[in-house]
Amino acid sequence: MISRTWVEIDLSALRHNLTVIKERLKGKKLLAVVKADAYGHGLEGLVPVLDQYIDFWGVASLDEALKIKNDKPIVILSPILQPEVTPVVENDFIPTVSSIEIVRALSKEAQKLHKVVNIFVEVDTGMRRTGVPAENAIEFINDVEDIPNVKIMSIFTHLATASLPEGGPKVLQQVRDFRNLLKRLRNSYMVHVANSAGWLRFPETYEEFDLVRIGILIYGLSPFDHSPTIPIRPILEWKTRIVDIRWVDKGMGVSYDHMFVAPCRMKLATLSVGYGDGYPRSLSNRGYVMIHGKRAPIVGRVCMDLTIVDVTNIPDVKIGDEVTLVGHGITMEEVAKLADTVNYEVATRISTRVPRIYLEK
Ligand SMILES: *Cc1c(COP(=O)(O)O)cnc(C)c1O
Repeated sequence: MISRTWVEIDLSALRHNLTVIKERLKGKKLLAVVKADAYGHGLEGLVPVLDQYIDFWGVASLDEALKIKNDKPIVILSPILQPEVTPVVENDFIPTVSSIEIVRALSKEAQKLHKVVNIFVEVDTGMRRTGVPAENAIEFINDVEDIPNVKIMSIFTHLATASLPEGGPKVLQQVRDFRNLLKRLRNSYMVHVANSAGWLRFPETYEEFDLVRIGILIYGLSPFDHSPTIPIRPILEWKTRIVDIRWVDKGMGVSYDHMFVAPCRMKLATLSVGYGDGYPRSLSNRGYVMIHGKRAPIVGRVCMDLTIVDVTNIPDVKIGDEVTLVGHGITMEEVAKLADTVNYEVATRISTRVPRIYLEK
């Protein structure tokens, strides 16, 4: 039995989400974004299920690509560096490029190995993070077309403001700039724009394109600060157990720095989870957990391995009892809001020391 803290992944909820997404894709290809260990959900256990629904894997790095044991094409979405060129070509990964030096290095390596390396070209239409600036894109793509053993499989751009309620005009401007650029190309390519938020809100980001790149929705989480607009459900529950129970009297300080001082006699339970597990320290004195279906507020500082909650009003609480940190009664979005961040960050920060358990519920 794992008693400290663990994550339960519901594979039937994952199947449900993928079915809901596929039904609404209108035949577009699906690139499943599984970077950061499937947004903290633990990629390994998800691969066999995802494999039945998707067309491409999307990861952030060579290391992440090497961890996927599967035949479907693997796209590295962030730039690769020179020392990564050889293993990328050897393993037939699909790098995203925005530098001609990297394309030349890929070409050299591909010629050496008698291979053709497929690449994705990112065009920057407004994210200003990676990608070839739109004004240089035509020249860049034409140059790449002349480089041997390198084949442009796809051209894409990434949206900057699709999650923002007032982000619509900028999204549509990015789409327009991208389409204008595509019109000026000699060849046609697999082209795409949409991430989860873009796909849910703006048909313009996918209807005339070939593929969507979906991450957060696969895991049943929302790309917005409100619920998603399709009937997906979270696949993750994060749990721990009570390892200590004690009473404190009015005026007693609790946990580091005595950030909390008991306003009255109180019953406290200590949980076997802390920021060393990725549980946000910013929940100190503000978050809550669920015990026996009731809310237990966090009191004092979240420590590295332990967190203390108020259970004065929850009857029959015992050492060893199960506690829900994220799941029934408290969503990832609620935890994120209390921790002053987004669900993406809470999920991806769940530490590797927390085992992931895969269930068919
Ligand atoms: C992370 C990422 C996505 C997925 O974003 P979601 O909001 O999780 O859907 C799509 N495209 C690129 C380039 C990304 O880096």
